[in-house]
Amino acid sequence: MKIGIFGGTFNPPHMGHIEAAKSAMQAANLDRLILVPSNIPPHKVLPENTANNEQRLLMTHMAAEEIGCEVSAIELMREGKSYTKDTIAFLAHKYPDDSLYFIMGTDMLRTFENWYCPEEILKHCTLLALCRTASERENMLVYKKNIEEHLGGNVIVVENEVLEVSSTDIRTHASSLVPKSIADYIEKNGLYK
Ligand code: ATP
Repeated sequence: MKIGIFGGTFNPPHMGHIEAAKSAMQAANLDRLILVPSNIPPHKVLPENTANNEQRLLMTHMAAEEIGCEVSAIELMREGKSYTKDTIAFLAHKYPDDSLYFIMGTDMLRTFENWYCPEEILKHCTLLALCRTASERENMLVYKKNIEEHLGGNVIVVENEVLEVSSTDIRTHASSLVPKSIADYIEKNGLYK
């Protein structure tokens, strides 16, 4: 079986995540997709007035309903910094007979070589990379080449329909690029004020 893993802060999940997940599933013919909200991301500081872990987990479940996929709280339960290397090692051990694919946008692919133990991650999974802006496509191929040459892994660049939106956009100004269930939840709970 082919299993996709899509990690993120999901603070909140938005249509960019949802479309990226759907494109990745289709492009790699994934049988399962698991969204993994991070606890403390190694690479970013969560803003003030942010949603708490429970709220991010709940909103991630709402996004998963839109996609038709699963959610795992492994990083939230593990506490401390959320290293993808630990998550992938855990899932590789749990699903030894399956092929794992780790999904990420361009910003993550660009910095992948600086992640914690990137070679370990690549031992267990293929990277599925998606563009966040149309102008990035050529850069993606350069990042792919560098990673494959330096770290010896396998990167698939997905020809996705680009949707230029971030969680920062949703937190800082009203945007329609968020599913209604999540927009209602943000409104009802007074998040990101
Ligand atoms: P923030 O604005 O808070 O930094 P974000 O929008 O980058 O958040 P994350 O939850 O940190 O969202 O991202 C999780 C993963 O989803 C990352 O691999 C990121 O590159 C990818 N991603 C986020 N938005 C998009 C998008 N619009 N298109 C494709 N991939 C995306």
